[in-house]
Amino acid sequence: MKLNVEVMKSFGRFEFAAGFQVEGARIGIFGPSGSGKSTLSSLLAGLVSPDAGTIHLNDRCLFDSISKINRNPEQRRVSVVFQHAHLFPHLNVERNLLYGFHRTPAERRKLLLEDVAEALDISRLLKRSVSKLSGGEKQRVALGRALLACPDLLILDEPLSALDKRLKEQIIPFLRKTLRRFEIPYLYISHSLSEMRLLTDQVLCFADGQLQETSDAETLARQRMTGNRHGYLNHLE
Ligand code: ATP
Ligand code: MG
Repeated sequence: MKLNVEVMKSFGRFEFAAGFQVEGARIGIFGPSGSGKSTLSSLLAGLVSPDAGTIHLNDRCLFDSISKINRNPEQRRVSVVFQHAHLFPHLNVERNLLYGFHRTPAERRKLLLEDVAEALDISRLLKRSVSKLSGGEKQRVALGRALLACPDLLILDEPLSALDKRLKEQIIPFLRKTLRRFEIPYLYISHSLSEMRLLTDQVLCFADGQLQETSDAETLARQRMTGNRHGYLNHLE
């Protein structure tokens, strides 16, 4: 996956301005609360429009303020899993997973569904109402739904931060295995060094709406141990 971003977006006093090109399949995004990580997710997914700039994903233009290109979210092939699962409470797990896939041929849909459900260990929950799931199960359903879309880029925006330590420890191996298995490139947004270590190869660090540096989890861990570090590393868990 190749992502090329050159954007500006202001929300009143907060200004997000980032220019970077990144290539890889497992990219982490780290930064203190309010540094603009979710703003970046929304800009990439098309949920918020930049004030100016360009966004290219694998050389496909998603946004260009000068040529007035602004692909809508359904056309971007970018899926997002948020901190809270955002499932449809009136539908069961299977119908949540398949929501929006009515155009995929039924046989292919069934095979994909079985595959994703098995990888995430939710096959036995397919007929259950989502209101009867635990937080960790809901997050796996949200991830399953994002995988079924076969996006060019999956954004995981602090997908585990609402879960307790035990659930996190359970879900991380599933995440790791499933993301590798489906070969979907992702941006993993987190404050957690241990999640970054397990799930990413490089980490983009944001502070105050700007990219500060591109690093990796091991380097950040070392910098955190020494006095010689950027202030934003204090926010690393
Ligand atoms: P966290 O780690 O807490 O999730 P974050 O890095 O994801 O933080 P953002 O959600 O990107 O931070 O927010 C960055 C800034 O932009 C904040 O000051 C926030 O209040 C502001 N902001 C984000 N979205 C909007 C919006 N739709 N309207 C107005 N301000 C917004
Ligand atoms: Mg956020």
